[in-house]
Amino acid sequence: MMEKSDFDSDLFRTALAQLDRVAQRLDLEHDIHERLRYPRRALVVSVPVLMDDGKTRVFQGYRVHHSTVLGPTKGGLRYAPDVNLGEVTALAMLMSWKCALVGLPYGGAKGGVRCTPRELSKRELEHLTRRYTTEIMLLIGPDLDIPAPDLGTDEQTMAWMMDTYSMTQGKSVPGVVTGKPLIVGGSAGRREATGRGIVYALYQATRRLGQNLQGLRVVVQGFGNVGSVAARLLWREGCLVVGVSDVKGGIWNPRGLDIRDLEAHVAESGSVAGFPDTEPLTNTEILEQPCDILLPAAIGSQIREDNADRVKATIVAEGANGPTTPEADAILRDRGVTVIPDILANAGGVIVSYFEWVQGLQYYFWRESEIVSRLQEVMSRAFNRVWALGAKEGTDLRTAALMEGVRRVAEGYRVRGLYP
Ligand code: NAD
Repeated sequence: MMEKSDFDSDLFRTALAQLDRVAQRLDLEHDIHERLRYPRRALVVSVPVLMDDGKTRVFQGYRVHHSTVLGPTKGGLRYAPDVNLGEVTALAMLMSWKCALVGLPYGGAKGGVRCTPRELSKRELEHLTRRYTTEIMLLIGPDLDIPAPDLGTDEQTMAWMMDTYSMTQGKSVPGVVTGKPLIVGGSAGRREATGRGIVYALYQATRRLGQNLQGLRVVVQGFGNVGSVAARLLWREGCLVVGVSDVKGGIWNPRGLDIRDLEAHVAESGSVAGFPDTEPLTNTEILEQPCDILLPAAIGSQIREDNADRVKATIVAEGANGPTTPEADAILRDRGVTVIPDILANAGGVIVSYFEWVQGLQYYFWRESEIVSRLQEVMSRAFNRVWALGAKEGTDLRTAALMEGVRRVAEGYRVRGLYP
């Protein structure tokens, strides 16, 4: 077994601290708690790519399975410049709690390649993806581990992974990944699923807080798959989206942004920066602007001890995974800010991934309206359970969500026992 230090990273320390705290609250037996603190397996691979300049460059890649006790593993693939084994392991652990919380028959996994995707050509990205897929082949499969898009990856990445895997099997295997393009077995509504799930969670939260989504001011950090869809749907619900950012910086207009026009601007220029009638802001400043709902939908550790005091929102909906450090979480809690935690707020992605996987295995596809109503049902049920547990235990939503997720995984270990 690898040493604990092999997984050392900010996010892994956060994930362990969360687990340890919840294990204590649940009075979890030592033997199961100990098993939950480690991933089941972790693979580190080198991914050599012939670059456009004729030179070979080697990228570091990872695939981690945290727990397989409830079923095959499921989790995204991330392309980002600072990905490391500890971060991927922490994200795999969060996936275990998330899948269990919303009742999916999956364990948690995650993958990553350390790279800056926007600096790679399409040809380089394709080669990187295909070679990475080949290197992790022994860990993936439709009933083994099913990757999906995450930060820096998209439908195209999934199509290359599916094709690479299928070529080695001599047949099409659509069930090996989710988040694929529709034409090769993707699901209606998958692209919008995470953003849509956030809107359902926010609808439930505002209702319970005696508010109405209409007219609330929203700030979104990150305008990719998750952030842009959530911004568009919230704007359609009548929210005022007053600030938005991406990796190049943020924009601000207290009168609200026209999200349709903003999407056209991003499609043309590649960034939200420079959108007419807005004031530029940094990615740090955007978090501190006056608003009702703050939606971090980019990378981890954005709300920290040094800026949590300046967050003005009364609701934080975590679109990103791990955007709030434990210290910042405590500050927000003390200030009475309602934080809808990542494993609940952004679960819409894995829920519709599950629908895509089920549809693919049966070669029978559902209409978008069916996907949307089933997603709403699963999200609302999970939200209600977390809210009720929080009220019963007198805890914040993150603690309640983790308690429910960890309890279910632990129950799986308990009934299956320890092999051999
Ligand atoms: P994406 O690559 O589509 O978009 C990421 C956005 O964040 C882009 O606008 C990018 O410019 C911005 N960004 C990147 N680095 C940044 C930085 N250092 N500072 C500020 N902005 C930065 O990714 P995505 O799929 O939208 O994922 C965003 C977050 O949501 C991630 O934390 C991911 O783990 C989480 N998430 C995604 C899904 C999904 O279905 N895609 C599901 C659950 C959770």
